[in-house]
Amino acid sequence: MSATVADPKPIPVGEITHNQFETAADLLGLDESMRVRLSVPFREVTVQVPVLMDDGRVRIYIGYRVQHNGSRGPTKGGIRYHPTVDLEEVRGLATLMTWKTALLDLPFGGAKGGVNVDPKQLSRNELERLTRKFTERIALAIGPYRDIPAPDMGTNGQVMAWMLDEYSSKKGYSPAIVTGKPIGLGGSLGREEATGRGVMLVMREASRDYGLPWKGATAAIQGFGNVGSHLALALHEQGVRVIAITDVEGGVYAERGIDVPALLAYARANRTVAGYPNADPIMNEQLWRVPCDYLIPAALGGVITKEGNAHELQCRMLVEAANGPTSPIADKILEERGIPVLPDFLANAGGVVVSYFEWTQNLQQMRWELEDVNAALERKLVSAWRAVSTLARERGVSMRTAAYAIALRRVADAEEMRGL
Ligand code: NAD
Repeated sequence: MSATVADPKPIPVGEITHNQFETAADLLGLDESMRVRLSVPFREVTVQVPVLMDDGRVRIYIGYRVQHNGSRGPTKGGIRYHPTVDLEEVRGLATLMTWKTALLDLPFGGAKGGVNVDPKQLSRNELERLTRKFTERIALAIGPYRDIPAPDMGTNGQVMAWMLDEYSSKKGYSPAIVTGKPIGLGGSLGREEATGRGVMLVMREASRDYGLPWKGATAAIQGFGNVGSHLALALHEQGVRVIAITDVEGGVYAERGIDVPALLAYARANRTVAGYPNADPIMNEQLWRVPCDYLIPAALGGVITKEGNAHELQCRMLVEAANGPTSPIADKILEERGIPVLPDFLANAGGVVVSYFEWTQNLQQMRWELEDVNAALERKLVSAWRAVSTLARERGVSMRTAAYAIALRRVADAEEMRGL
């Protein structure tokens, strides 16, 4: 079965964030000079990453690290390994991290990194060599009090472990240099599932405010990686019926609800959900038209567009688990259609919240219990949700505009206080 995203040319995430930034800046009445200070990145690093392949050839990849704004603390953001990674995408995602950390009131700014590589095409040894070389070449720009990477699409705890080792071999043991590490190296309990779990927690709060069903409600998810799989499991445990799940290879559909633990076991063995026997096959294009309460892009950016699918979604709420999945025009269409959109930098902030807990545990040489991590995560997300939902109601704006306004205000205030 072939599977593609709805729009062959996704809108760049930077374009999406810029549009939303302007709307919120207008709402706050920010002057021109502050708009420029908040939108131009602080530092951008592009590096050549030569990798000795197993067959003896040398292949050159390009790596990026963009630190968008650090006025509220060291910058923070994931490292993405994906063939489409470029400076523009990384810049857009770094910007989003600034708003996300500010919205959640974490003492961080925003950054993002990436390498234009398809990690599935590399052997484990090649992946390790690529990660070490990339780390070596951005080592000058990162640090536990400067810029702290984490996993994102195509990277995981093992990649973070190699980054930690490479950085520590030069600077001395530095567990706080990355988050999303394996537990044995100072990772936090609850970090791996935090983003998916966090999406579920914000959805649950939003369902109450919007009068949407919860137990027995239906959800359809694009993506079954770190975010999609933990989210599907968390929803399943809440009694939400996950009726459709797709990944890059294809997808599955079951009106009665998919047995998520069984699908997880299948996907672990087969590295895809496609072909899972206890459900019907479904393609990515079809996913967007599945009637459901919650439709959840949890893979790529730019997948909900005017041309592709915005007029045809049949959900009662769009939940942005992926970063930048909705184009600005699609956003307007959904508003006109009365479909609320739970914005990415609130919905998927659970990962960076627990990354913050991990970083503080590393700096203090402490280990928190899982219940403490989960309780603190829930408190942070619920409090951010309430602030967004209250402002959206008071000012009669979308959740996204309200979330941006809160974040922009905090970063603008920090810029003012610190001066030039
Ligand atoms: P991942 O690499 O673990 O999984 C990505 C999933 O998307 C896989 O199931 C893959 O098959 C699927 N996918 C890739 N290309 C696809 C396509 N063309 N069509 C359909 N499915 C496709 O990545 P992840 O960490 O789960 O991240 C997913 C999204 O969530 C990204 O937008 C990422 O930026 C965002 N995000 C991740 C985290 C985190 O903690 N991992 C935090 C915040 C936001």
